[in-house]
Amino acid sequence: MFCPKCRSEYREGFTECADCDVELIPELAPLPAEPKSVDYVQYQELLSTYNLADIAFIESILDSEKIIYFMQNEEFNTLTFSPQPVRVMVNTDQFDQAKKLLKDFQPQYSRLSSD
Ligand SMILES: [Zn+2]
Repeated sequence: MFCPKCRSEYREGFTECADCDVELIPELAPLPAEPKSVDYVQYQELLSTYNLADIAFIESILDSEKIIYFMQNEEFNTLTFSPQPVRVMVNTDQFDQAKKLLKDFQPQYSRLSSD
């Protein structure tokens, strides 16, 4: 017999966990699988831009398609004179999908990465 709360094992005859005050069960449910770490995600640069309006547009497209991405240098670009463009980094597995979504998108101050 097992306690479903603290997962202690009890001998036959016990019906309650002495620590938790809950009824024992004959078998424990398996522990939920470990959540996948985000470290497994590999990122690839989709494009870079100085234009914050572009960024908002790209974010809305990538969000709607559930593409995993992040914006590199976004903090710096909120300043008036940014020395670096914002780089849009997308999950490598979804890179082709993301590129297809943005293929008709012609940002004025952006360049699509060549590869
Ligand atoms: Zn217990």
